[in-house]
Amino acid sequence: MKIEIIGSGIVGLSCAAFFTEQDCDVTVISTSNGPDESCCSWWAGGMLAPWCEMESAEPLIGELGLESMKFWEKFTSSYQKKGTLVVATSRDLPDLKRFGRRTENWQQVKQNEIATLEPDLADRFTTGLYYPEEAHFDPRQVLPELKNYLKNKGVIFQSNTSLSTQDLHAPPKADHRIDCRGLAAQDHLDELRGVKGEMILIKSSEVKLSRPIRLLHPRIPLYIVPRENNLFMVGATMIENENRSGATVRSVLELLSAAYALHPAFGEAEIIEIGVDARPAFPDNLPRIIRKGNTTYLNGMYRHGYLAAPAMAKRLVEQVLGYNTTTTPYEQANKPALSTGSM
Ligand SMILES: Cc1cc2nc3c(=O)[nH]c(=O)nc-3n(C[C@H](O)[C@H](O)[C@H](O)COP(=O)(O)OP(=O)(O)OC[C@H]3O[C@@H](n4cnc5c(N)ncnc54)[C@H](O)[C@@H]3O)c2cc1C
Repeated sequence: MKIEIIGSGIVGLSCAAFFTEQDCDVTVISTSNGPDESCCSWWAGGMLAPWCEMESAEPLIGELGLESMKFWEKFTSSYQKKGTLVVATSRDLPDLKRFGRRTENWQQVKQNEIATLEPDLADRFTTGLYYPEEAHFDPRQVLPELKNYLKNKGVIFQSNTSLSTQDLHAPPKADHRIDCRGLAAQDHLDELRGVKGEMILIKSSEVKLSRPIRLLHPRIPLYIVPRENNLFMVGATMIENENRSGATVRSVLELLSAAYALHPAFGEAEIIEIGVDARPAFPDNLPRIIRKGNTTYLNGMYRHGYLAAPAMAKRLVEQVLGYNTTTTPYEQANKPALSTGSM
């Protein structure tokens, strides 16, 4: 079967991987020759944190996350299963209790255990929650790795090609079109909205961290993800706004002061980059597969692009190729997360 995929963010590449596995003839069309800063996937923290996300997300996200983590573990060399550590300043300790009540699969850690996990944080935090099964990676390593893998599998990449709304209403030059344009698909998907996310990349040789750290904070759910070469991704704001043109002073101040609260040595860190994008999301913040004629859309990954894209891509491929759909008991009983419609 010939498949045309529009978009080479994490969703388009995940779909290409599963179609290739089924011996389909796949072409990926995308506006840039990325992966690069033109797609939302570039700005992500790369946290694979299904249990922590349960603090605010539907159980479906946890199920998709567990399934996707199996894919990532096998697929990428940068996958690191070192867990997540959640901490709070003494003022915000009630938030830590609340976070624990809303999530599962954690261990309470005291100062001596924090010292073993993250020596640099030991004299700053007396208690925390450790989620040992969670993982992380660097999206800027994973995206090119996935693209190269797909090229070696024979996937054709038609880069620097921006399809117009009109092009996208014309029949595909393939048996089926998969639309993975992220937020740009708002012209076809009425309910899709953007949720602004700002992040900052800093560099410090004075702080060593081994795993993502979440610092509970009344306004920003701050996290810091360590990357290679003494880099740290500080993220991320969540603002109901689609403006992707720049980070605000307030957001930058809040992100940096939270990093400083985590460790004062971050005060001397070098600011490498300030990034902004808008996460594509539906009103319920759950991803959807929507079929319209010979186009199928996979969108609305919200803050779970990496956490959920492989599992959703697998479901999409099964639907398009007419196999049994992998639905979880939760989906069957409660949630029409996979909706279909026709033009
Ligand atoms: C600051 C921040 C931190 C985040 N952290 C995490 C995290 O830790 N973990 C996690 O799981 N998720 C995270 N996310 C969410 C994640 O980044 C998104 O859910 C995900 O990137 C959405 O992917 P996508 O492929 O749908 O869209 P995109 O990555 O935006 O890809 C869209 C693609 O479509 C192409 N395109 C668009 N229009 C056209 C056109 N007309 N013609 C051809 N091609 C077109 C673009 O070039 C691009 O290749 C974060 C997001 C932000 C902003």
